[in-house]
Amino acid sequence: MSLPPPLPSVDSDASRRGAVALAKRLQTNAELGLTGTESARRLQANGANLLRALPTVSAWRRLILQFQSPLVYLLLAAMVIAWTAWLLEGQASWPIDALVIAAVVTLNAGLGWAEQAKAQQAVAALARMTKATASVIRDGRVQRVSSADLVCGDLLVLTQGDAVGADAQLIACDALLLQEASLTGESVPTTKTTGEVPANAAVAERTNAVFMGTFVVQGAGRALITATGMQTQMGQVATLLDATPEAPTHLETQVVHMGRQLALAVIVIAAIVVATVLAMSQIQSAADVVAVLLLGVALAVAAIPEGLPAILSLALALGVRRMAAHNAVIKKLSSVETLGAATVICTDKTGTLTRSEMTIQQCITASGTTHITGVGYEPQGNAQHDGQPLAAGPLQDELYALLQFGSLAGNATLSQTDGGRWVIEGDPTDAAFVVAAKKLEQSPAGATVRWRRVAQNPFTSARKMMSTVQLDCHAHDASVNKLMLMIKGAPDVVLARCTRVKVGAQTVALDDAWRARILLEIDTLANAALRTLGVACRALPSTQTGNDGDASEQNLVFLGVAGMLDPPRKEAALAIAQAQRAGIRIVMITGDHPLTAARIGRDLGIAEQNSFTSATPITSATLATPIATLHSGPHNTLTGTQLDALRPDELRQKVRTIAVYARTSPAHKLRIVAALQANGEVVAMTGDGVNDAPALKAADIGVAMGITGSEVAKEAAKVILVDDNFATLVQAVREGRSILDNIRKFLRYLLSSNMGEVLTVFLGVIGGSLLGLSTPLAPVVVLPLLATQILWLNLITDSWPALAMGVDPATDDVMLRPPEHVNQRLIDTSMWLSIFEMGLLIAVLTLLTIDFYLPGGLIEGTGELTTARTAGFTTLVFAHLFQCFNARSDTRSAFTHLGNNRWLWAAVGTSLALQVAAVHLPILNLAFSTAPLSLAQWLVCLSMGSVVVVYSELRKLVRRWQLTAHLETHPAAV
Ligand code: ATP
Repeated sequence: MSLPPPLPSVDSDASRRGAVALAKRLQTNAELGLTGTESARRLQANGANLLRALPTVSAWRRLILQFQSPLVYLLLAAMVIAWTAWLLEGQASWPIDALVIAAVVTLNAGLGWAEQAKAQQAVAALARMTKATASVIRDGRVQRVSSADLVCGDLLVLTQGDAVGADAQLIACDALLLQEASLTGESVPTTKTTGEVPANAAVAERTNAVFMGTFVVQGAGRALITATGMQTQMGQVATLLDATPEAPTHLETQVVHMGRQLALAVIVIAAIVVATVLAMSQIQSAADVVAVLLLGVALAVAAIPEGLPAILSLALALGVRRMAAHNAVIKKLSSVETLGAATVICTDKTGTLTRSEMTIQQCITASGTTHITGVGYEPQGNAQHDGQPLAAGPLQDELYALLQFGSLAGNATLSQTDGGRWVIEGDPTDAAFVVAAKKLEQSPAGATVRWRRVAQNPFTSARKMMSTVQLDCHAHDASVNKLMLMIKGAPDVVLARCTRVKVGAQTVALDDAWRARILLEIDTLANAALRTLGVACRALPSTQTGNDGDASEQNLVFLGVAGMLDPPRKEAALAIAQAQRAGIRIVMITGDHPLTAARIGRDLGIAEQNSFTSATPITSATLATPIATLHSGPHNTLTGTQLDALRPDELRQKVRTIAVYARTSPAHKLRIVAALQANGEVVAMTGDGVNDAPALKAADIGVAMGITGSEVAKEAAKVILVDDNFATLVQAVREGRSILDNIRKFLRYLLSSNMGEVLTVFLGVIGGSLLGLSTPLAPVVVLPLLATQILWLNLITDSWPALAMGVDPATDDVMLRPPEHVNQRLIDTSMWLSIFEMGLLIAVLTLLTIDFYLPGGLIEGTGELTTARTAGFTTLVFAHLFQCFNARSDTRSAFTHLGNNRWLWAAVGTSLALQVAAVHLPILNLAFSTAPLSLAQWLVCLSMGSVVVVYSELRKLVRRWQLTAHLETHPAAV
């Protein structure tokens, strides 16, 4: 960044002397700021400019925290039981069960710890991306630095929308207004000056200083930093410093709640089974008690999805990191859920839907229309009238005045880079005038020889115009007014302040006929999707300073209207269509002219086509029609003025159909959000200016612009679009939905698998004699699977595949279904039913395999109990692994996108390899009481396990049919 144009010299000699003295005291330079080396030294010596560093959780503490969960308590209780059983058994061999449980708990804690560390890193990286920044002059250059790096003596550059990063003394200011409510409680912005204030003045009265935590509402200024960090006024207000930790998200609360419920359910199931077994079998020895207790352990272990909390936080954090890579920075994890549930997106137009690269194409002045050729910021082009180069005459006079005064009434500069590319600095609307003026050799560079700026009334979205006061350095005649107010802004707003119009070298009274003609011309430009700007001027008597805003901006001479092309972003229409297909309504809220807005809305597909092709063409007049006649009208555009006339209940009705709001100010956004929310909508709202902050806060998802957004807007928002692009927001919604999808995928997988294990043990015990596990002659309870086997199963098939599902790419239909309800339960009744159904199927397949190898039972077999159990155990592993692919969708076939998640394949491959080891390695045979299987036996297990795929495919087929039938009978559901 280069040095900004110097601020107007409004400071008195006294305050200039004061600035030099202050700079001396702070050992800095009031013009060039600190040097880079000195600021680095001060930062090192005095520490970062932070209020209070959040206590970091040590690695040890995080490890201990892994054990603090009801599920782990249950496992630990199971371990104690296994240990006691081993002691009761007379310590014959190794306490395998207890050791395996200990290994599972430790491994899971380690895994959880590592996953959480990774999740924290991802979140910390996001936090760094959303840190507040500030502009300072160092080494004589304006630089944007992190607010944490500000030091005493830094020369702060303040512009509208900046959050003040430290306490500082003003040395120059221009119409500077600060919102200090956070510090003083005063809701009205304070005007700042460089004048002296008494040394003991209260904070609210220190008008020559700015304070950390406040922000610039309007104007510009420079200030020398006098205090940072805890030394600031904000640092001294202790109560404000309590950093509120982020509340757990709705999702996390649901998962914690579910964990508790599961633990409770497990205890109940285990108690029922243990009680049933005790009642059914005759307990004769300690060994019998041990067997029953171990059964309880196995059940408990089977049902607990140990890795769930860690997998959940990792899936969220990685998803959010993926979003950041796509330019959408999520400040709060909870926004992920809300993004997925958004039903309405309210978006700005300029810069978000359009490219904000303005080129003046047409100018209409009193003597006619001129076309200006050329596109972009390159000042190549000329002015044409009726297809011919513009000749000298009244039209040329008017055009030159329009472009020259229009560019002097702005703050943009145009320059050429070393590579010869033309670049602008400043507002693109201002720049469009500078470029057009340069094309016609009427550039402000030449004009600045004549005009010197002495005051400025800045642009705000509420005022919709800006003006500058220029001193005519060529006017030597004392009788001539030397001061000229030049103003540009929304043409309807500017025109309302005009009393004359420039015609050639003269001015004539602006009567009703002129007014009507100009309004019609504005409509013509706006109907062609051009952004319209009016320019006017007024010679000021030298007694008037001109920086009194409204008072001087009256009795103006209208110079003409410029029509600018601001092309829509090419990806915007596609993103809008995509969002609409996903059941999200897009609403455009813009400060622009209603016709320009309506036309662009139509071009982008926001407003319905038929709303704008009615027989009567839309004009400013029809859009200014009283609201009563609009209720039944064809247009779904509403202007700020019309909105003001509506009562809240009327607005609630209107927001259901209005797609385009034009000529709005930021306050309207707040009303629109409130009305939409009152209708039960989940609203995402974009914004960039200071005054957008309340609406961004009120919306369910406030979205700030990364490039043009003010610090205040970024602070208030939950999501920041790094590239200001609407398409990025739609992409973020897609990511939000797919994160939720992935969470459901691994829940579906984990819970159905665990349910399969529980039911295997439960049904195996109850139907032992039916399956050949126990005989009527020896009705001792024989467990279908051993506790250690179930533990092993959990270890190899739970965490890794579930983790891989957490990063599953989005499914095709993620943006083809309506948003889900914001309070929608993570697992609804139908999902619970399908979890139970798949669990039951897995259990039946496992038990049938066991029965297949055992003598007696439903199917006659000849195998040993150990072989039968190993085969059942292996079938269960296969069923789990197949279930990984089934669980990726409850409608889409498992065979679609089979290859697009290599992590899943890696997880499945690893689990399989570990199972081969458990079956064939002698040491593991001993630990898990398994026996090697033949190839034929492996194939039997594989076929039995694969039945889950066949069943699930059939089920999905039926579900797809049902959905199609539903959509045919309820087309509105799309
Ligand atoms: P959006 O609200 O969609 O982001 P917008 O630029 O049209 O875009 P505002 O910034 O509120 O909305 O501007 C409102 C109107 O003020 C514009 O239509 C234009 O006529 C006028 N305007 C915008 N920028 C300037 C400027 N730099 N100087 C003078 N007038 C401006």
